[in-house]
Amino acid sequence: MKNDIAIIWFRQDLRLSDNPALTAAARHAHVLPLYILDDHNGGEHTIGAASKWWLHYSLKSLNTSLNESLSLYQGEPMAILTDILSRYQVTAVYWNRCYEPWQITRDKHIKARLSALGITVNSFNASLQHEPWTILKNDNTPYQIFTPYYRRANLLDTDTQALPAPGITGALCQDSQSISLEALKLRPKIRWDGNFYPCWTPGEAGAQSSLDQFLAHGLENYQAGRDFPGLKAVSRLSPHLHFGEISPRQINQALLSLPDDNNREHFKRELSWREFSYYLLFHWPELPEKNLKTHFTHFAWSDNPESLKRWQQGLTGYPLVDAGMRELWQTGFMHNRVRMICASFLVKNLLIDWRLGARWFWQCLVDADLASNSASWQWVAGCGTDASPYFRIFNPITQGEKFDPQGTYIKHFLPELKNLPLKYLFRPWQAPADILKKANITLGQDYPLPMVDIKESRENALAAYHQIKHLS
Ligand code: FAD
Repeated sequence: MKNDIAIIWFRQDLRLSDNPALTAAARHAHVLPLYILDDHNGGEHTIGAASKWWLHYSLKSLNTSLNESLSLYQGEPMAILTDILSRYQVTAVYWNRCYEPWQITRDKHIKARLSALGITVNSFNASLQHEPWTILKNDNTPYQIFTPYYRRANLLDTDTQALPAPGITGALCQDSQSISLEALKLRPKIRWDGNFYPCWTPGEAGAQSSLDQFLAHGLENYQAGRDFPGLKAVSRLSPHLHFGEISPRQINQALLSLPDDNNREHFKRELSWREFSYYLLFHWPELPEKNLKTHFTHFAWSDNPESLKRWQQGLTGYPLVDAGMRELWQTGFMHNRVRMICASFLVKNLLIDWRLGARWFWQCLVDADLASNSASWQWVAGCGTDASPYFRIFNPITQGEKFDPQGTYIKHFLPELKNLPLKYLFRPWQAPADILKKANITLGQDYPLPMVDIKESRENALAAYHQIKHLS
């Protein structure tokens, strides 16, 4: 029997390079790399459907990098680890930290149990530039607003020296009781994932190539272009970051070799919004469920499953919203500006509870991330600590005219509108009958009529907010 086996428990750090837990495990004589699909502890926050698709291919890629030695399991991690300990001479267990509240509770418990058994247990930071507990205001309370948080974070030293992948090929061992990747059943039974394949390459190599592409062709226009969904001006790194196929440290290291201009600064700032979301989730673990501005508890949300369904299906009659919702369904992603517009439409024009929108995003996004998703929905709804003011309601017509001026994005995801002149593309219901006929569109048949009036629904939203704004 092999002795001195170290377990590296992969979770949201599916990479070999810049992986401190793996580097620590590599110092032992033998390394048992494993992944556990924990569908026991997360409750409602267990991984969503589109993310499962991503995870399947990310694990496949990781397993290839580990010479097919990755052991896979499904179930309760403590029970699985206990079973492995009974069969192997494990001396140490290493992992990189996760920050969802249920993961923190689980990991503390496991760390205590394993330590009590005399096993060395070490956890590391592999996914954030700064641990959430290291940034506090002078009165030792957490920041609630992004800008002062960001200013303080920028005063701290940031480590930009990424770790190389350790040489572990000879030390790897696999558990004979590992299950197969197929047994995790991560890919959908009904194959709605066809459009995902040309869009994405999950895994460490795919992450690096997305970064390289973006630095070579996207960053130079990032500040001006990042709001235009029809341009290739954003990195699309979010799913790679969520699954830890690349670390913020690796990105920062790559940025160091580029000119220190506004584009680079703006990109770093956006990466810090991710950090800030993790920060909020850490300090306000109720972020995914509760309005952080408590007077929103009294908000009169509309209970309208039919409207929710039309929004989910991209059938609202507002082309930019519908294009966004179809991008989400078809590709597992939605451009940031369009996420804000679609979320605002649900919460403000339809008055539907942000948590229902967040749940739909959770199932559909390949980058579904409890911290970023919850913080962003609270931001749009106006109920987060650092929220956009409630009266700022995105208008999908003017936003379309401004940010998709040639209609490239809308026409791509709504091909039924491709012959509509630009003048009417953002408001098809105003097009004269002969123009609609020429464009082969019968409204209500080929494309829906608007489900609400934009001005009236905006006023209703402001009135609903007026009812609660003085309450606490
Ligand atoms: P880039 O513009 O290239 O930015 C680089 C990285 O910075 C991103 O990959 C991401 O990690 C981070 N980032 C950028 N903007 C934000 C932001 N506003 N908040 C947090 N991090 C940011 N992001 C997720 O990763 N997962 C989610 O589940 C998620 N849900 C969202 C829900 C709503 C309603 C909204 C408005 C935003 C949400 N976001 C979420 C944030 C943002 O839309 C995505 O991170 C971004 O669109 C990813 O695209 P990108 O990688 O091309 O971004």
